[in-house]
Amino acid sequence: MATAFIDTARISVRAGKGGNGAVAFHREKYVAAGGPDGGDGGAGGDIVLQVDDNMSTLMDFRYKRKYVAENGVDGQGSHKNGKGGKPLVIRVPRGTLIRDAETNEIIQDMSGTEPFVLCKGGRGGWGNAHFATPTRQVPRFAKAGLEGEARDVVLELKLLADVGLIGFPNVGKSTLLSVVSKAQPKIANYHFTTLFPNLGVVYVDEAASFVMADIPGIIEGASEGAGLGHDFLRHVDRCRLLVHVVDVSGSEGRDPVADFDAINTELAHWSPELARRPQLVAANKTDIMEDESKLDALRKHVEPLGFPVFPLSAASHTGTRELTKAIAAKLAELPPVTVYEPTYVPRPPVVGADEPLEIEVEDGVWYVAGKWLERLMANVNFSDYESRMFFDRTLRENGVFAKLEERGIHDGDTVDLYGLQFEYQR
Ligand code: GDP
Ligand code: MG
Repeated sequence: MATAFIDTARISVRAGKGGNGAVAFHREKYVAAGGPDGGDGGAGGDIVLQVDDNMSTLMDFRYKRKYVAENGVDGQGSHKNGKGGKPLVIRVPRGTLIRDAETNEIIQDMSGTEPFVLCKGGRGGWGNAHFATPTRQVPRFAKAGLEGEARDVVLELKLLADVGLIGFPNVGKSTLLSVVSKAQPKIANYHFTTLFPNLGVVYVDEAASFVMADIPGIIEGASEGAGLGHDFLRHVDRCRLLVHVVDVSGSEGRDPVADFDAINTELAHWSPELARRPQLVAANKTDIMEDESKLDALRKHVEPLGFPVFPLSAASHTGTRELTKAIAAKLAELPPVTVYEPTYVPRPPVVGADEPLEIEVEDGVWYVAGKWLERLMANVNFSDYESRMFFDRTLRENGVFAKLEERGIHDGDTVDLYGLQFEYQR
């Protein structure tokens, strides 16, 4: 069997590293010793997500799993700052949920048009021009750029459609969508025709239009993971209304009542909540109906359960207008499409106390650097009091102050952590 369309993917993303600051000195003929003029490194490029309505699957992510944005350029002499790295824009279909790969928490629901910054590029390092002070005229150092944020995320497509067409393969779902909208899904007289979801906008009148999705056919056992079922079911999760298409012609020897129940059983296995979603029943292929008995039986079975039945023939465009008007009327009563709220809570970065720290002293300023410190710095929001307290505690618990003491720091000396300076107090 052909493989299903791709609706989940795991990718690794990494924003660009900041460029390094430059150590440089102004040199001119006849000027003995110029001042420090090393420029700053440029910031690394961000990883940005953006909705693209020309995409309807996550297929592109199947073969390309690593995404890295451009690094910032190093600073140069003559106060020349390095250029920032270009952001890397990753396009995703509308309705893609971005989850943290470890915790599965939702980071963002890509259902709007706003771009979303998933990873910030690293800050550029300061060039030595920044470190010149009245007492320190000739700083021979600059700072390295910070690493960009990196993470693994899982993309999960949950199409953004008001209405989802459900039903067995070959009952006429794709035909119906093609008739009521401008979408042109593949239509063929064999099972498993639809391997890609198709979205179509249905215009009812000036006041009403909605998005309808035709998704790969459900098959029995789908909710146990057999075949296309899971891929399909995920997509109707957000739909406000389901249109259940049933073949009442008897031409394929199908029993509409049994079909209707089988599909709803699958829905309930997947999600009881989804099984309670409002449904309209489209009794299709009335043009080749042998007699009315199957249609009548279907009505008798489903109407008492509260499902209205619309006899129609998608192929000959009969009864479709009644259905789309009823859909629009029903949608008007229903809440809007679900947009998922982020559940992701950023965690403090891992501090590896065994990773070494470098300490340099120059003119009474203690420069501390190290990989974990760099990660910590990139993640702390210094404008927030709680975060500053957390930062202070982390430094203390990981022996930063103890190491400075060992090396002979005095109260009142200046400590510099990647450009962040403060006065040391025991
Ligand atoms: P899907 O698998 O549910 O998407 O079904 P399709 O839309 O691909 O249709 C399957 C077959 O049924 C195709 O050969 C269609 O031409 C045919 N079909 C769809 N709707 C009707 C209808 O109203 N009347 C008749 N006679 N055939 C139809
Ligand atoms: Mg189809």
